[in-house]
Parts: sequence; structure tokens; C-alpha cells
Amino acid sequence: MPYCAASWRAAVSAVRCIFLRSRIAQPRKARLSPIEVAKLFGTPTYVYSKAALTESFLAYANACKTYAQGDDGALVCYAMKASSNLAILHLLKELGAGFDIVSGGELERVLAIGGDPKKVIFSGVGKTREEMRLALSHDILCFNVESIPELHRLNEVAGSVGKQARISLRVNPNVDAKTHPYISTGLKENKFGVAFEDALSTYRAAASLPHIHPVGIDCHIGSQLLDDAPLLEALDKLIDLVDALAREGIHLHHLDIGGGIGINYKDDEPVAIAKYVERVFARINQWRLHNHQGKPIKVMFEPGRSIVGNAGILLTEVQYLKHGATKHFAIVDAAMNDLMRPAMYEAWHGVEPVVQHSQPAKTYDIVGPVCESGDWLARSRELSLQEGDLLAILSAGAYGMTMASNYNTRGRAAEVIVDGDQAHLIRKRENPSELFALESILK
Ligand SMILES: *Cc1c(COP(=O)(O)O)cnc(C)c1O
Repeated sequence: MPYCAASWRAAVSAVRCIFLRSRIAQPRKARLSPIEVAKLFGTPTYVYSKAALTESFLAYANACKTYAQGDDGALVCYAMKASSNLAILHLLKELGAGFDIVSGGELERVLAIGGDPKKVIFSGVGKTREEMRLALSHDILCFNVESIPELHRLNEVAGSVGKQARISLRVNPNVDAKTHPYISTGLKENKFGVAFEDALSTYRAAASLPHIHPVGIDCHIGSQLLDDAPLLEALDKLIDLVDALAREGIHLHHLDIGGGIGINYKDDEPVAIAKYVERVFARINQWRLHNHQGKPIKVMFEPGRSIVGNAGILLTEVQYLKHGATKHFAIVDAAMNDLMRPAMYEAWHGVEPVVQHSQPAKTYDIVGPVCESGDWLARSRELSLQEGDLLAILSAGAYGMTMASNYNTRGRAAEVIVDGDQAHLIRKRENPSELFALESILK
């Protein structure tokens, strides 16, 4: 499970986990508390645990080492749209991660931390010519192509710069990931990928293009999957395609099963990362033995949420308690612009007061200061609160800061990594003058 140990249930919050870890890592030194972090850096602040990040990435990497055949049998490409702070990317790069990017901007981040473009795969339905040129100039590992028009555009752009583009087709295996409709991506009606039925003909077309080199196949059926059965079903479908392609003389070097393993937000019991990786390789190794003539094929994973989701919290301070006719509101200094997931997907995040009071609890909606009724972070929580209290919004490491905006001219939150008894500022809080620095008034 991507936080602490498998036996820890939702009741044991990520906030305790993150700060306990710092105590465990440095038993003799003073414990770092959320209060100190808030004093040092203010609120709202995203706080990540280096130990938790490391643990979840290594859960993938070590399982790959155990079950993949040979050092080159697997690659874990962190889907950096989940959280793309340079410090987090650098940490994961040092642990051996490749990166799954969805924009030229994300490639610039990889380059900024000295990441190896040969470990970069480029996903997304709308790659521009400029982004293609940038990625080609750095010789990235692979473009995950999502449509026939994209294939033709990439062929043309690669030709214009005298290169061959390595590609993988994102195939839509049409399996139901059984997750939220906004984060389900592998069904026929989704905008992503090439339909399973069209995959063979699209590969044939790709193989005939002079500046396109098909090297892989990929899929990504959705996010926050607690059960790996749909992923394994998708894997089986990809394996069938790899065989069918081989019969036509198109030999692929890698198979990329995408991201998608979920995390525990509230009583969720996601499959353990190591177990999932083990099951993937059980199929791959079996297939290699029987059908694929023992030929090596590299297996790639694109995890995002399961690496960072429970490695981060959002620290916020209660500004006001407002007791309405039918509801109690705790108005905090974080808002939908900081953590968009509740407004966007009605996502549930745990809320943990940093200091517990003995007064009886009331039922609160935790809301932000933004002028939108959708600006809420949590609803109907039994809490005993006072003005000035610090709250930790849990499981906020993934799709938190990366989705943040400046709505209401609010500077984005600071970001901090806790490492042992040290807290490192990894992104300063934005101030208003920075927010309008790129704007100008009419002369
Ligand atoms: C978002 C995304 C991922 C990561 O998904 P998680 O659910 O965060 O693991 C992986 N691959 C692609 C193509 C994506 O769009």
C-alpha cells in the first residue's frame, strides 16, 4: 500500500504517518511537527514525505527487479502530472525513475533536473508540432501516439528535422476500469487512444511511414483503480496484439501498461504495488515462455497517484468558524484553487486537526475563501475546532499542487519536503506581484 505499511488503515492518517516517519528516521533528534512546519513556511503549504515518496517508488522498482527478466526488463516512468515539483522529480530520478510526460513543459522539467530523455515517454492526445520538435531534438524514448492524425503529423515533423520518431500506439482496450467517469479513460467513448479493433491497421499504417518507428504498445485505462483485474485484462489484450503484430513482422520492444493503481483515501483497499507488479510479470513471463519464443520485451509502468498521493498533505489554518442556520462552516486559508479535486470530482480527502480539543465535535463543512459554492475541501466532518487551528488535508500529494490555479489572484501554496527532522522548502509561496508580472496595461 502506498503509505506506511500495509496494515495501516485509514484511521491512521497520512499526517501522522508523514511526521512519525521523520521521528522514526531520526529517533534521537527532536520530532518535527506540523506546527513547526506551519510556523516556518506559513499556510497553506503542501508537505511531502521523502521517506513515503521513496517507499512507494521503490515498491514498483524493487518488484520489477524481482520479477522482470534482466536489468532491462522493466522501466517505471513516473507520470509527473500527478506532482511535478523539481525536487520530487530529482528524488525519483536518483532512484532510477523515467518519466511519463504530457507536455513540452513537463519535458523542460525533466531536462532541468538533468533527467535522461532516453527514459522519457510522451503521452497525451494533443501534442503540438513545437512539442514534437522539442521531444525529437532530445531523442526521447518514445511518443505514445493517440490517433492517426497525430501519427501523420509526427511523421511529417520527424521528417522535417531528419529524424525517426520511436512510437507506441495507445490502444484503447475497452475494459471498464470501474472508477470515476472523469478518470476512466479506457472505454470506447473516451477521447483517448486508438480503438482496439483499429490497432492492427494503425500499426500497419505506422510501419509504412518513413519517419515513424513502432517500438511499443501502451494503454492507460483509468486512475484510482483499487482492483488490478481490469489492468490485467487490458494487459492480456495488449499481449494478443503484440503476438498478432509479430506475425506480420512488426516486432515491438516494449509493452506499457500505463498507470492507475489507486491509493487509500477513505477505507479504500488498493492492491499492493508489489503484488500488482508480480501479477503483471507472472503473465508476461508465462507468455514469453510459451508464445513469444522467449524474446525479451520490456514492460513499462506509468504510475502517478500511487507514488505521491499518500506522500503529501495540505496544511491549512482555520480562519473563521461560521455557524449557519443548518450548517457549520470552517473557513480555512486553503481553497479549491489549491486543491481542486473535491470541486472537480467530489473527491473525499481526510481532514485531521493537528491539535485535538476536548470540546464536543460539530459537523463542519471545510470551505475556502474563494467566491464559488464549489469551493469546499471536505463536507460533513465531525470535528472539534477553534479559530487558528491547523488542519491537515490528507492524501493530497497527487493532483493537488499540479492542478492548483491562481483563481481569485491567490498565490499558489508553498511546497515543503520533510526528510528526517529537516523540512526543506521546495517551492516558495507565490506573491501577488509575481502573479501579474507577465501582464501589461494598454499604452
Ligand atoms: C495520468 C496518467 C497516468 C498516471 O495515472 P495515475 O492514476 O496517477 O497512476 C499514466 N499514464 C497516462 C497516459 C496518464 O494520462
